[in-house]
Amino acid sequence: MDLVSLWSQGVDTKCVLCKNSSESRNHLFFECSFSAQVWAHLVKGILQNLFTAEWSDIEILLVDRNRERYQLFCVRYAFQAAVYALWRERNRRRHGEPPLPSQALMKLVHKGIQNKLSLMKLQDGKRFDGILQYWFATRL
Ligand SMILES: [Zn+2]
Repeated sequence: MDLVSLWSQGVDTKCVLCKNSSESRNHLFFECSFSAQVWAHLVKGILQNLFTAEWSDIEILLVDRNRERYQLFCVRYAFQAAVYALWRERNRRRHGEPPLPSQALMKLVHKGIQNKLSLMKLQDGKRFDGILQYWFATRL
């Protein structure tokens, strides 16, 4: 079941990530203590005082063309990767698979982003030269 059909049905279920709250888009991304930890880990060093875990604020950030290019790219990619990983983890848990600790999930997402950035650099070295350094420089 995808996000849209789930919430359009108005299903009200408990969040399997924190087991503390009812699940909604805003809870899952990223009010949930589990999700918030992953999101912060990925982008806090990039956004610094602009950091937010609120969906509506993130939406604005993701389309802000005044952001520096690498910053925008890394935040957008981190967002996609985080949403994908958290949604996948949510579904795994719903299907009774053993929960992945947040540390392990963060490691996985982190690795995925690094691979993506390395690939960007390989494919278009001119535009993305320095993006990996940027990413590492913004790790906390
Ligand atoms: Zn939760």
